[in-house]
Amino acid sequence: MATWRISCQARSVLSAAAAGFRAGATRTRRASSALGDPLQHSASGSFTGVSRSPSENERLTEKERLRNDRLTTSLFTNSRDFSTAKHEERRKTCDVETMAESGADEDVFDEIKLRFLSFKKNKFLKEAQHYQTLAKIQSPKFMVIACADSRVCPSNIVGFEPGEALTVRNVANLVPPSEFGPSETSAALEFAVKSLKVKNILVIGHSNCAGIEALMSMNDTESRSYVDKWIINGKAAKLRAKSVAAHLDLDQQCKHCEKESINESLKNLFTYPWIEERVVKGELVLYGGYYDLVNCTFEKWTFYFEGRMPGEGRKFSIRDRSFWR
Ligand SMILES: [Zn+2]
Repeated sequence: MATWRISCQARSVLSAAAAGFRAGATRTRRASSALGDPLQHSASGSFTGVSRSPSENERLTEKERLRNDRLTTSLFTNSRDFSTAKHEERRKTCDVETMAESGADEDVFDEIKLRFLSFKKNKFLKEAQHYQTLAKIQSPKFMVIACADSRVCPSNIVGFEPGEALTVRNVANLVPPSEFGPSETSAALEFAVKSLKVKNILVIGHSNCAGIEALMSMNDTESRSYVDKWIINGKAAKLRAKSVAAHLDLDQQCKHCEKESINESLKNLFTYPWIEERVVKGELVLYGGYYDLVNCTFEKWTFYFEGRMPGEGRKFSIRDRSFWR
């Protein structure tokens, strides 16, 4: 049995939305189907994806049936207009089924799957036209560089929707200078600025950043740690924080460095000539952001390029600071 069946009006909504793109989409769809589904054709030939044959379903244990029923009920419980009567009505209308599963009782993906199904039902299907357009082309307004920390996802904190922000996340939200060579961050920057022509770059730092704490605590001896080799990109920010906040304890120094490192990353953006060129032309604006995850506040500022000063190099200023609480 297929994991999902979408019928009735759900399918008709998708069909109507897809009609406008049909001609252009044909080639892409053919290309995809020609390649086939790699999950359905693994080298071993033993992986069969998420589908089950009827005989397999007949062998479902009572425990599995109860579990699937619970998953389906949970999905509809998440609906805003849930009620017992509406539950049954909605089941008939949308004909949504969760897949039969095997494996451990406590599947780490149970909750994740429900969230995905909820996203599909409440966002993707309801805004089908928008998502079909996004499937063709992306034109994000923002490039976002944020920390990899699990607590600071920009899509959750400032609500970026799919298609709004090309995002790269790394330890301590650092931008290495171009002379340090290629990195996943510089690759994402190149794609965002040169290909997608984003108009805004936002570097988001945050409080309680373990990456910054590691940077502030590390000694200068050669380390083989991947973390150490990465966070050394923030060394200039560390030195400034140590200098300015020398009289403060390590926690306060880290807080200082968390913001200093954002501006250091913004400065490093100018070591990429195609970024400086667009900023000078007024085609690209750079911003800093700082999320305090203890008090849930957000500080935003514009990182303004004053120009190249003879004998002083580039000069910057911070403008339009705002504090959201
Ligand atoms: Zn962090």
